[in-house]
Amino acid sequence: MKSRPKPIDSLNSPRFAGVSTFYRLPVVDDPAGLDVAIFGVPFDGGQSYRVGSRFAPNEIRKVSGGIKPYHPSFQLSPYDHLAIADVGDSPVNPLDPAVSREWIEGFVDRIVTAGATPVAVGGDHSITLPILRALAKKHGPLAMIQLDAHLDTADSYFGTRFGGGTPFRRAVEEGILEPKDLYQIAIRGPVYESTEFDFVNERGIHCMTMDQVAENGMDWVLEQLEPLRDKPLYFTLDIDGIDPAFAPGTTAPVAGGITSLETIRLLRNLRGFNNLVGFDVVEVQPAYDIGSVTSMLASLLMFEFLSVFTASRMR
Ligand code: MN
Ligand code: MN
Repeated sequence: MKSRPKPIDSLNSPRFAGVSTFYRLPVVDDPAGLDVAIFGVPFDGGQSYRVGSRFAPNEIRKVSGGIKPYHPSFQLSPYDHLAIADVGDSPVNPLDPAVSREWIEGFVDRIVTAGATPVAVGGDHSITLPILRALAKKHGPLAMIQLDAHLDTADSYFGTRFGGGTPFRRAVEEGILEPKDLYQIAIRGPVYESTEFDFVNERGIHCMTMDQVAENGMDWVLEQLEPLRDKPLYFTLDIDGIDPAFAPGTTAPVAGGITSLETIRLLRNLRGFNNLVGFDVVEVQPAYDIGSVTSMLASLLMFEFLSVFTASRMR
């Protein structure tokens, strides 16, 4: 039986001094033999205004050292059951988004080919497109849950078709994302024009606006997701889906989102979803954060995913 990487025992261990890895896990260069490969994608060239999410991977590595290994609800430690490691950062070219997309896709190709499940920390939301491209080569058209204040299905910004606001329109056009299996949660806030919703409506994307979430409650949201139970399911967590009261350190905060507790429920509800193929958390901006509260929430939510992923595998 292969040996599993284990977190270094304590945040205060001399062995941890000066080392920041996700959850104090060992760094592994080769994803072969891993069940889950956690990595950073320090690219924020898809943003047109506030930037800085390129610094999130290392900040989240740092604060994730405080997340203890045992999950109280699932009664398990993911690291006891699965081989999980920090595989470093995807290469990116900060001056060339197109090259960055190629490099990210290649980096995730290696993870997927090795049979590991990718868990990514952005970066802005443009990094999800190359991850989906790599995953679709293995799984075919994907289902996806998108927690986000924004649709991210614009056709272009400033005449450019690839950015933080366009990835899921491209993914649907490319046939790697099945629009009828795309569920967006907590969409809210002003947009440029009414046509931004046209693509969502034309393609049959399930857009759950924050108005609907607030009116019907989270139980209703969880019920809507039931058809995804056996589909190859990716979860993309734009931290701005959560209310800025809980997650202020983000690119484009929009008041009136779901709570951190509701987000934890959303992730725990994935227990029994049989084909979770990947996860990312994007748009965390340490420079706009307050006492690392947003990075700490992001690292907790990733741990929630690792735990529910493990629990679903053990069923
Ligand atoms: Mn957003
Ligand atoms: Mn987004």
